[in-house]
Amino acid sequence: MDIQAELISIGNELLSGQTLNTHGRDLGEALATLGLRLSRDTTIPDEVPTIGSSVEEALDRVNLVFVSGGLGPTVDDITRDALSELFGQKIIVHQPTVEHLKGWYEQRGRAMTIAATRQAQVLERATALFNSVGAAPGQRLELADGKVLFVLPGPPNEFNAILREEIMPWLQVRYADIKPDYVRYVRTKGIGESDIVTILENDNFQPLEVDLGFYPGKGKVKIRVSAPAENKAYVKEAEQTLRKLLAGHLDLFE
Ligand code: AMP
Ligand code: MG
Repeated sequence: MDIQAELISIGNELLSGQTLNTHGRDLGEALATLGLRLSRDTTIPDEVPTIGSSVEEALDRVNLVFVSGGLGPTVDDITRDALSELFGQKIIVHQPTVEHLKGWYEQRGRAMTIAATRQAQVLERATALFNSVGAAPGQRLELADGKVLFVLPGPPNEFNAILREEIMPWLQVRYADIKPDYVRYVRTKGIGESDIVTILENDNFQPLEVDLGFYPGKGKVKIRVSAPAENKAYVKEAEQTLRKLLAGHLDLFE
């Protein structure tokens, strides 16, 4: 079963080069451990119509859609409004989050402002996902057609905490039958990508049933060999052939 997910990263700062978008990397890596595939990572500006159309299109394509950013207390934090409009759902105040935030501010000797309360707002039919390192909770919205939308805050430590603590365990149960791909790596050094290709082509190396990825950098090339778990034997065979063909160029100390 090929379950695909998409990420929509919201934020003008991600497009203007002020902030490096790290969520795709973190989400793709996490989902792969469960055998789920991040199939697209789209970055869009803080604009209600663009958020609406991007989420709608992603939900047309895949089962799981992740949206990040724009859940803070400032005027450019409009993700809730865009989703409220798209799904025709009211925005409500999640009282347990308000209580949690009150305590959080009290501990720091600060009063909770109205603006801060905005962070406790969620869509009326969403399940709030506890944020152990920040203010705004994540949200899980299960849609009538079985598709699921996750809404997450932008700061990477919050995004990753909610992903690890709330979302991954839920996905693990929901997709218990799915096995992650079997993956092996072969690392080379001191040989360029095109020379590697020539060696492989001369030997007519075209392994069956496996995916190959070549990732060059700093005089080294990392070759990724992967396949669904049931094709583990093909991966092992391809790895052995690569090690034989590239003997003398292998980076054995990585
Ligand atoms: P926001 O939730 O949109 O208010 O963003 C809060 C903070 O998280 C800002 O400093 C953003 O630059 C940062 N942030 C938002 N999205 C991402 C992302 N995809 N990758 C890394 N940082 C992000
Ligand atoms: Mg933002």
